[in-house]
Amino acid sequence: MFIAFEGGEGSGKTTQSRLLAIWLRDQGYDVVQTREPGSTKVGMRLRAILLDAVHQGLSARSEALLYAADRAEHVEKVIRPALHRGSMVVCDRYVDSSLAYQGAGRSLKKEDVAKVNEWATGGLVPDLTVLIDTPPSIGLTRLGGAADRIESEPLEFHERVRREFRALAAAHPDRYLVVDGTLDQRVISEIVHDRVREILP
Ligand code: C5P
Ligand code: MG
Repeated sequence: MFIAFEGGEGSGKTTQSRLLAIWLRDQGYDVVQTREPGSTKVGMRLRAILLDAVHQGLSARSEALLYAADRAEHVEKVIRPALHRGSMVVCDRYVDSSLAYQGAGRSLKKEDVAKVNEWATGGLVPDLTVLIDTPPSIGLTRLGGAADRIESEPLEFHERVRREFRALAAAHPDRYLVVDGTLDQRVISEIVHDRVREILP
């Protein structure tokens, strides 16, 4: 089973994916908790390139392709092997981050970003995507001063990203769970557990 967490900056998806992984392990499942970008050897170098403020002005297409390259490596080296072993995969960000950030955020054509990512992943789609929906004004404040290349984009960029995530969730209600990211962490994790429980093997 493949579960992805999505959301904007400071939405708490890293915390929630960790809490879900712990909960699943407590139930006896083997869990691979992973994230994008940067969960392979090559991916770590791609992450460094992508997030370094020195690359401000990187072309939107290059950015989309580098994220897709990271994802292709991640799917082939980490996610598919784990799924084949029968492990649960809990992933912090996946294809929908590219639709939101490179598509809506960078104003690339969504169909193009989708096509590149379908090719990069061989069409692998999560069984469940959890959107931790948080207003960017709140998420960015939680991060404090730590701003990478993308976190330092203007608020309007992050608003476009959020709108796209919500639109994706609305377009795929069967695959999506949307949780209010301003709720207490424990409350959020319980909402997530309730939904995951329904689809556990
Ligand atoms: O989730 P995390 O903060 O580690 O992601 C690293 C950065 O990469 C974030 O600032 C996020 O906005 C950015 N990102 C992106 N496009 C993606 C995935 C992540 O701009 N497709
Ligand atoms: Mg970040």
